[in-house]
Amino acid sequence: MTPLERALRERIGDQGPITVEAFMDACNRYYYATRDPLGSRGDFTTAPEISQMFGELVGACLADCWMKAGKPRDVAYVELGPGRGTLAADALRVMKSAGLEPTVHFVETSPLLRQGQAKAVPGASWYDAFAEVPDGPVLVVANEFLDALPVQQFVGAMERKVMVTGGGLAFDRDGEIVERSPAREKVVGQIANRLRKSGGMALLIDYGHAKSAAGDTLQAVRGHTFAPMLAAPGEQDLTAHVDFEAVSKAAREAGGAVTELVTQGEWLKRLGIGARSQSLAQQHPERAREIEAARQRLCEPEQMGNLFKVIAVHAPDWPRPTGFE
Ligand code: SAH
Repeated sequence: MTPLERALRERIGDQGPITVEAFMDACNRYYYATRDPLGSRGDFTTAPEISQMFGELVGACLADCWMKAGKPRDVAYVELGPGRGTLAADALRVMKSAGLEPTVHFVETSPLLRQGQAKAVPGASWYDAFAEVPDGPVLVVANEFLDALPVQQFVGAMERKVMVTGGGLAFDRDGEIVERSPAREKVVGQIANRLRKSGGMALLIDYGHAKSAAGDTLQAVRGHTFAPMLAAPGEQDLTAHVDFEAVSKAAREAGGAVTELVTQGEWLKRLGIGARSQSLAQQHPERAREIEAARQRLCEPEQMGNLFKVIAVHAPDWPRPTGFE
């Protein structure tokens, strides 16, 4: 039994079954606080860890929008759940070459991951929540952050819970499931509110669906394969598909201007990943094959290209970022 499972069983013994939302929250807090989950020896690999091209194109998109907004001088780069800090390092390098050197604020709860981020991006500051980020215009990035925030699951009118049975942890009910994520809606609303008040834009990148729909999308991943949801609490990554319709609604309600939703593959193509991969391959001929494989993994529909999607939220008086027609 994992240490977290022991603690959860005790908690359920004391207070009765806990909601799926509380379970997911407890599991992911423990999980991210106790390891670096990324890369081939971890549990999963993310776009910025596949290729520097990803962070570079994110940086190019942010710098371009900042220039078109009249180059406000006091702008900050804010990233939520920066992982190893790879995306930020790649994006900041490109922004610097465009004359943009923002202060850097990271929203990260894991003390362990903060250490790696400090190495990748010297001079950053850390916060436990977006609401703590100092006021001013912001360029916000969140890649595979929203999918890690807890979701509620409902079966009819009843919220699904996790209980203890003779055999271990079990769900208290099954049936057609509808998910909602108040935690996501809250942070997206806070971001949009900040953009409306102080200016800036946000790129939200994640896997998920364009329209709200019923369905159980909760999944556990360990060692690059799917695992049973309730097995090994705290030792596997729990995520749920992002409902981009709900995200977009939360952003609009808080006063943000919201772009269309674009697939990651299409967005990266519009930002010029083809040309970028060719020029990288020319500079590093010995890595040409690896660079092309990375481009395909990021963009091809049957790989990450279609499942992952990008949406931008911007201040109503800021230009619409590139890549969203
Ligand atoms: N964006 C990175 C890492 C994605 S993994 C990449 O693309 O490689 C999810 C990240 O979100 C981790 O850094 C994790 O520690 C962080 N995280 C998860 N839940 C969080 C929460 N509630 N608040 C702040 N950070 C959180």
